[in-house]
Amino acid sequence: MNWLFSFLFPPHCAGCGCEVQSEGTLCESCYEQVLHIRKLKSNSLDLDEIWSLSEYSHGIRTIMHDIKFNGKKERAQGAAPFLQEFSLMLSDLWQDFIPDYVIPVPINSEKLRTRGYNQVELLFKEWIYMQQKRYWLNATKDEAENLNSSLKWQWLDCLNKSNTTTAMWELTKQDRIKNLSLAYSYKQENYKRLLREKQILLVDDIYTTGATMNVIAKLIKESKTEKIKALTISSGA
Ligand SMILES: [Zn+2]
Repeated sequence: MNWLFSFLFPPHCAGCGCEVQSEGTLCESCYEQVLHIRKLKSNSLDLDEIWSLSEYSHGIRTIMHDIKFNGKKERAQGAAPFLQEFSLMLSDLWQDFIPDYVIPVPINSEKLRTRGYNQVELLFKEWIYMQQKRYWLNATKDEAENLNSSLKWQWLDCLNKSNTTTAMWELTKQDRIKNLSLAYSYKQENYKRLLREKQILLVDDIYTTGATMNVIAKLIKESKTEKIKALTISSGA
């Protein structure tokens, strides 16, 4: 039935509307238009690097919007080509960095209930799992024997975001940051110890002002981590 469905309702590019191979992906020209893998300027001492894969505009903006607000989970596949492109650069870019843990930026429980998922998980989890497999295929004998201490690329959904009561626009900039830092916490106290001296990768869908990422990096750094880097699918206004 699948072939009949896609024959009758062929998937369309979220950017220009032309027919594409699979649901959620962009056509080549729309993909090239937004692809922009770059290191962003960090304004946090807790974050070692922030990487973004695309400009938040055109097709990728539609994809992100559809996943978050229109319940179109299948559109998360649209992030895969960007992540694959980034994989090819990883061994050069991050020679001294292989994350022990990958931490998704959480959404609050109210959003989680109405949306049914955290979009960050949909966008990244499969790719992270692929990195983990690739790491093991390339692991040296020593690394493989030392399994417990070198298990890399582990997905760790360890943070909570509380439901904020005060509307952010009612607050001064300083109060906004304070409010934001109070919103994030560990799901369990023992995660703090787990992250000690580890390399951490934070993942999020979009990077704009960096306020959220900075607050989370600060919280995680308190666990005396070795390094924290961040990766987002898109950045921009
Ligand atoms: Zn297109």
